[in-house]
Amino acid sequence: MSDRMKSTYAPFPAYTWPEGKTSAALFSVDVDATAPFLWEHRDHLPERLARLELRRFGLRSGLSRLLDLFARYGVKASFYVPAIVAETDPDLLPALLNAGHEIGLHGYFHELVRDVDDREFSAAIEASLDLFLRQTGRRPVGFRSPAWEMTPHMLREVKRLGLSYDSSLMGFDHPYEIDDVVEIPVQWALDDAIFYKFEGSGNDRQAPVSGAAVLDDWLAEWRTLHRFGGLFTLTVHDWISGRAQRIALLEKLLEEITAESGAWVATAEEIARHHVASANSGHFAVTSDIPAAIGPRRFGFSS
Ligand SMILES: [Zn+2]
Repeated sequence: MSDRMKSTYAPFPAYTWPEGKTSAALFSVDVDATAPFLWEHRDHLPERLARLELRRFGLRSGLSRLLDLFARYGVKASFYVPAIVAETDPDLLPALLNAGHEIGLHGYFHELVRDVDDREFSAAIEASLDLFLRQTGRRPVGFRSPAWEMTPHMLREVKRLGLSYDSSLMGFDHPYEIDDVVEIPVQWALDDAIFYKFEGSGNDRQAPVSGAAVLDDWLAEWRTLHRFGGLFTLTVHDWISGRAQRIALLEKLLEEITAESGAWVATAEEIARHHVASANSGHFAVTSDIPAAIGPRRFGFSS
């Protein structure tokens, strides 16, 4: 951690964006499709269709609507694809690249961090890299962890494999470095899943939130981040935000953001490249310290 962070709560120096830009906006799509469902039922797939069909809507309809929307506003986005989704649909990665978008890693099976150990994580990310390379002829440069959990081991692996950045953590609302890995931060409040995800599985936490309320929220966050000079990272999913009203909402959002000439709309790859080449590099560097467990200092609390 830099001395500045240890010694003072004075504001950090402002994050600087390319000439003429006061903030940045990153549109990202996690193309999860059926992968999380297949992972959840990895030992035995039930003979049931509802959640499979709900998620298959993503690659059938949702994705093409998102691609059409980005094309109309001239937006290049970052798509994070579990390798199993690309393996099942080998035309997907080349199609995303042909449309000018970035593709990044998102687990092999969308395996969750709590379900795999370090060795399994390493094997999965290496296999994902191989698959991307085989299908597209080039290596992706970005990683985004399924469900946005990370460990120090995962950061070491991102570095060892020569990737340019991770996009899973939230320690700043502009790019920074953690254990010398460039972090392109995300934010739960800018994730469509927390508002809309509803699978009818009995485990849903809430009914889907109204699109109008979500648009209000996202616009307010974007306007304020623009004023603060931060990074607006929106994360949507093929099978969630591809639904009719949600596409219309994204259209209104893109309309306002792309009309602001001071907002730099860029892919995560471009933003990571800017970070290391700019004066920001090294000014927002932290380490992945995990404190010791509280243990005996619990003053007799029983749990
Ligand atoms: Zn995901």
